[in-house]
Amino acid sequence: MDNLLVALASMIVFALGASIGSFINVVVYRLPAKLSILWPPSRCPHCLNQLKAYDNVPVLGWLWLKGRCRYCKSKISLRYPVVEAVTGIIFVIIFFLFHVSILTIGYWAFCSWLLALSLIDLDTMTLPNALTKSGLVLGIIFQMVVGYLTEASVAGVIKHLMMGIVGAVLGLWLFEAIALLGIFLQKEAMGAGDAKLAAMMGAWLGWKYLLLAGFIACTLGAVVGISAIMLSQRKWGQKIPFGPFLASGAFFTLLGGEAILSAYLRLFF
Ligand SMILES: [Zn+2]
Repeated sequence: MDNLLVALASMIVFALGASIGSFINVVVYRLPAKLSILWPPSRCPHCLNQLKAYDNVPVLGWLWLKGRCRYCKSKISLRYPVVEAVTGIIFVIIFFLFHVSILTIGYWAFCSWLLALSLIDLDTMTLPNALTKSGLVLGIIFQMVVGYLTEASVAGVIKHLMMGIVGAVLGLWLFEAIALLGIFLQKEAMGAGDAKLAAMMGAWLGWKYLLLAGFIACTLGAVVGISAIMLSQRKWGQKIPFGPFLASGAFFTLLGGEAILSAYLRLFF
């Protein structure tokens, strides 16, 4: 019975995540193009025919259309169902880690913002202010709600509020420092968007986990960057969007931050 319940809950959470993933696809496509996110409803970019509700079902819609538009038969990118499935899987993982709690709801939102920002950065090499700023505000509100629910006092709210603000400021500072280093190295090391993304992550994670996320991001970035150069996909100095690495760092920190930090500290103390 228990297993059945777990399976059922996972399926519902996956479906919720995949639907959010479907909306993330819309945001990623329309926001950089300065189109309205809410209007018009989903339609084929080639023939502009509006999608039927049953074709718009996350992941499944793409499968039963076999990846082609119902009307003009032009190809629909595999990326859409993949983003939907990945969002669903992320939602399930977070649900299993944080159960039915405010943390689960908050981190679902946080990861949705991270995923949208990563995809837009990959597509356009920019991180839109509309997303980094709203994500920052949401992170600060999240901290205050968590403070209120865990400590049930004004002092608790203020403590968590400060934690979010300190994290955000540290995020900005860190990347200002790296950018300054870039001036000495005669090249633009990080974009201003990366600093804003780091500030947003700081608000959600607090300064300690922000540092861990930044460290994971730089390690991943270095490994991927060097591998790409060795496989001669990229030249030295060619720009690689850093947003996806920052977002991955934040995600891995959510998954195992406490375990990683305590293992690390045990090495030295
Ligand atoms: Zn079409």
